[in-house]
Amino acid sequence: APLLELRNVWVEYGDKVVLEGVNLAIAPGEFVSVVGPSGAGKSTFLRLVLGQEAPSRGQVLLAGDPMPPECGPDRGVVFQRYSVFPHLTVIGNVLVGFEFAGAPVLGRLFGARRRAALAQAEAMLAAVGLAHARDQYPAQLSGGMQQRLALAQALVKHPRILLLDEPFGALDPGIRADMHELVSGLWRDHGLTVIMVTHDIAEAFKLGTRVLAFDKRRHDPHAPHRFGATAT
Ligand code: ADP
Ligand code: ADP
Repeated sequence: APLLELRNVWVEYGDKVVLEGVNLAIAPGEFVSVVGPSGAGKSTFLRLVLGQEAPSRGQVLLAGDPMPPECGPDRGVVFQRYSVFPHLTVIGNVLVGFEFAGAPVLGRLFGARRRAALAQAEAMLAAVGLAHARDQYPAQLSGGMQQRLALAQALVKHPRILLLDEPFGALDPGIRADMHELVSGLWRDHGLTVIMVTHDIAEAFKLGTRVLAFDKRRHDPHAPHRFGATAT
C-alpha cells in the first residue's frame, strides 16, 4: 500500500488553481524528487504532506488514513534556511526534534529516559558527522554543517518521511556533493521515504528514484495543470 497518496487533489486560492486534480502514490522507501518552475505548486504540495494545508477538493492520505492536521513524529522536514535555532547549542537543536507543539521533552525526562534521549540525539549527531560540534552554536558552523544539524533535528525521532525543501540550494557545489552522499546514506540506513524539492535537475535525477515535474498553467486558464512523472 502507498505510504502517501493524493487522490484528485485540487488546491485553489480564490480564482487561482495551483494543483488541479493531482493523483499520486508514493511507496515506502521511495526517494521522490520534485522539480518545476517557481509558482508551480511544489511548496503547496509539501504543505499538504506536512498537514499544514488541506486541499480544496480531494484527499491526502498517510498510510491509508486522512492526513493529520499537524506534522507528527512520522514526518521530519528540512528547509533551505532557518531550520535551526541560533540561541540553542548543536545538541540542544537536535533535542528540539523530540518536541511537539513547543513542549520541551528533555525538561520532563529524568534518569534513564533522559540519558536515553540525550544518547539518541548524540547518535544522530554522529550520524551526520557533527559529534565534535556538540556544544557549539549554529553561528559557529558553516552552511553545510548547519544543514547537517537540520537533518539531525529532523531525523532524531525516526520519522518515516523526510521532506526536503531545496535543502542544498544555498550551498557551494563541493559541499553539495558531500550532502548528497550524506542524504543518500541516511535514506538507505534509516529506510526513509524522502520527498525533495529542488531547482537542480541533475541533483533531482542523481538522488531520486523518481522525479516528479510540476508545471504552471500558462496561457489558457482552462488548460489542465500538467503533471508528469518520470521513472529513472
Ligand atoms: P512553488 O513552490 O512551486 O514555487 P508554491 O506552491 O509556493 O509554488 O505556489 C504556487 C502558487 O500558489 C503561486 O502562484 C503562489 O503565489 C500561490 N500561493 C501559494 N500560497 C498561497 C496563498 N496562501 N494564497 C494565495 N496564493 C498562494
Ligand atoms: P548537559 O549535557 O550539559 O548535561 P543537558 O543535558 O541539560 O546538558 O542539555 C544539553 C543541551 O540541550 C544544552 O545545550 C541545553 O541548553 C539543551 N537543552 C536542554 N533541554 C532542552 C530542551 N528541552 N529543548 C531544547 N534544548 C534543550
